[in-house]
Amino acid sequence: MHCFYAPETEAHDPIFRLSHGAVARNAEQAERARLLLAGLDRLGLATASPPSAPRSVLEAVHTKRFLAFLETAWAEWQRLPGAGPEVVANVFPRGAPLTYPDSVVARAGWHMGDTSAPIGPESWQATCRAADCAVAAAEAVLAGAPAAYALCRPPGHHTGAEVAAGHCLLNVSAIAAAHLRRAHDRVAVLDIDVHHGNGTQEIFYDRSDVLTLSVHAETRAYYPFFTGYAEETGTGAGAGFNLNLPLPRTTRDDAWIAAIEAGLARVADFAPGALVVSLGLDAHENDPLQGMKITFDGFRRAGRLIAGSGLPAVIVQEGGYLSPDLTTALEAFLSGVMAPGAG
Ligand SMILES: [Zn+2]
Repeated sequence: MHCFYAPETEAHDPIFRLSHGAVARNAEQAERARLLLAGLDRLGLATASPPSAPRSVLEAVHTKRFLAFLETAWAEWQRLPGAGPEVVANVFPRGAPLTYPDSVVARAGWHMGDTSAPIGPESWQATCRAADCAVAAAEAVLAGAPAAYALCRPPGHHTGAEVAAGHCLLNVSAIAAAHLRRAHDRVAVLDIDVHHGNGTQEIFYDRSDVLTLSVHAETRAYYPFFTGYAEETGTGAGAGFNLNLPLPRTTRDDAWIAAIEAGLARVADFAPGALVVSLGLDAHENDPLQGMKITFDGFRRAGRLIAGSGLPAVIVQEGGYLSPDLTTALEAFLSGVMAPGAG
């Protein structure tokens, strides 16, 4: 299997996190990449460094002012009196009408949905290189590979067209889907991260050419809280082209696999030319975020099912946090992809 990784992404190693009113170390650390690379190593899979993708691939899903903000915010922030080491928003727009502001403090609030995705000096380059990995994996699939894996950090699925959140900067899964869409009339995105893929949903919510599906922990009392409900099915031309499959936090393998099977049945009806898998590994029972109770065997079964769909698959790394089990969860999922069949 073709695998893509850019070591430059490790320079994004955010520090700040606000959790239940306490300042904590950010969970989306560069160490994650080393744990994931170890999983590839166990399978004998080497990684290639991707070429740089043109900015137009980012503009296919993000607004120009959002890209300009991500690119320039850290340098501008450093000129503020008493600035901290990272861009972290502390004002947020609410209600309407709203005016796009000049101050970088206010633009941080416009473009950052919460405080969990701080921007440091190397974050722009890192998120661009993560997008390069996703695009290279899409290219590999377009060239005929049955599956390709992009080890992306930071992740992307909580970022919409111009608001980053949930440890994510550029929406790497959406970028891969938009890139595949250049060659295929229809593309599907199946998100199995334990958190609702709200950014990907938002980006394609009014479109019928990209089907978005998310299997995740119920959001009434879990991040991202405000979205992820079954009644969110799309709008306008996109009505009927978004499927949310929320599950209880107590979910174990069989119910999770059944939901993925239901998602794949909807994908089969849609008959896309290719599939993007937003691969969060944080549904694992030992993940520090404690969203669900999925075992290594559950991940292996999920990989087999997805590969068994017969669709060319671009597998994009999303969540999954610091634990030695992160390595084994990736190994289990990809071993399933490489031995397709019934779950
Ligand atoms: Zn997640």
